[in-house]
Amino acid sequence: MKKITIIGTGYVGLVGGAGISDFGHQVTCADIDENKINLLNNGKIPIYEPGLHELVEKNMEAGRLAFTTDLKKAVEVSEVIFIAVGTPISDNGEAELKYVKSAAITIGENMKSYKVICTKSTVPVGTGYWITDLIRSSSKNNIPFDYVSNPEFLREGSAVKDFIWPDRVVIGASTKKSFEILKEVYEPLYRNKRSIMHTSIVTSEMIKYAANAFLALKISYINEVANLCEIVGADVYEVSKAMGQDGRISPKFLHPGPGFGGSCFPKDTEAFASLFRKNGLKLRTIEAAIETNVHQKLRMVEKLKKLVGDTLKNKTIAVLGLSFKPNTDDVRESSSIILIENILSGGGNVQAYDPIANNAMMDFFPNINYFEKWEDACEGADCAVIMTEWNEFRAISLKILKLKLRTPIVLDTRNIINVKKLKEDNFQFDNIGNVGLHENEN
Ligand code: NAD
Repeated sequence: MKKITIIGTGYVGLVGGAGISDFGHQVTCADIDENKINLLNNGKIPIYEPGLHELVEKNMEAGRLAFTTDLKKAVEVSEVIFIAVGTPISDNGEAELKYVKSAAITIGENMKSYKVICTKSTVPVGTGYWITDLIRSSSKNNIPFDYVSNPEFLREGSAVKDFIWPDRVVIGASTKKSFEILKEVYEPLYRNKRSIMHTSIVTSEMIKYAANAFLALKISYINEVANLCEIVGADVYEVSKAMGQDGRISPKFLHPGPGFGGSCFPKDTEAFASLFRKNGLKLRTIEAAIETNVHQKLRMVEKLKKLVGDTLKNKTIAVLGLSFKPNTDDVRESSSIILIENILSGGGNVQAYDPIANNAMMDFFPNINYFEKWEDACEGADCAVIMTEWNEFRAISLKILKLKLRTPIVLDTRNIINVKKLKEDNFQFDNIGNVGLHENEN
């Protein structure tokens, strides 16, 4: 059993902390956000993530998981310290490292014995050297430590499962001792024969960006293919299904939609491209993927306008789904934000509904109307736009939808509504890439 501290109790820190305590270790999750820590100490979970509540509760009850704002003590008590603070995008496109800097200095100032200091936050390639220097220069008594990079690959919405059952764990460690200690932290994963890779620190940092950028590239690629499908009359669902059956391609991340969002892909692609520029190179593929994504989000606005008569002025639009993907309350960089902004600037009104993310979106749009049921959000609206593929929208009753809407118009940006039924119920509709174009012919 190891004593472990996680600095930063957000999506990664909280899921990671709960997961590592479930492996049998003694974990302290520390954060500067008092509200968040108070909530957690009162048995409440500040984010929505399936299975997280149960995991936190179980390990708190077992006495293996604790939450604190006392960072000094949290650093002192543990042998392994994870940094899991945010690295949002800064004005120049690079990753903002001020939270990482502050965490590193806190660690350096407060460590009194040997530590393994391990970064889970996504940081630009080479940041490990900088963090190591920060810790060393802020440590008064030259306390020995090893620095490790251990990027996190969990996906919001399935974060608990991803953490406990990862495809791989990457450990960028420059000493055998620190690698062995991290191996002990992840011991149950070894037993479950998960792939654990030992790399250099810089390679580990590179793996995270290269993986995320590639996934973003796949999404932008299929979105562009979908756009051409719409012009030439092909069905992108059939195209991507056939493409995905090629083992070299794989069917994952080949679903066209309203553009990628979330707290990772947008900022990680920008930061990766910026890193190439800094090194005298150009990451043309990813720069194109970023540009495509900006266009894809605006394309949803154009599709909507076309459906409702070329203007959004005085139109009421039901926006169904606010989070950037289902099973999360995270709305950061969600395509819904661009859509809502454009509806409002075009003189329209928004009636919004999300099963989980209404509150989160209120920070961005405090003055639009939010509803507790999709049926209420659609009442009297000129069009319903599906923005997130929540399961409840897959099963939406078109009969009720038609009764609620002022005009039976649907924009399905996630391709989850059965086109045949939309046609049968005489909806005017659009989706991404002509999905279901041939439904009536089969
Ligand atoms: P988040 O914004 O949800 O949480 C960050 C937390 O760090 C916040 O609670 C904040 O209060 C805290 N914090 C900031 N400065 C601090 C300090 N000095 N000391 C203590 N706490 C501090 O962020 P997140 O989504 O969990 O992401 C964390 C990192 O993990 C980022 O680098 C992100 O790119 C990476 N990542 C995120 C995901 C994801 O799906 N969210 C997946 C993989 C990797």
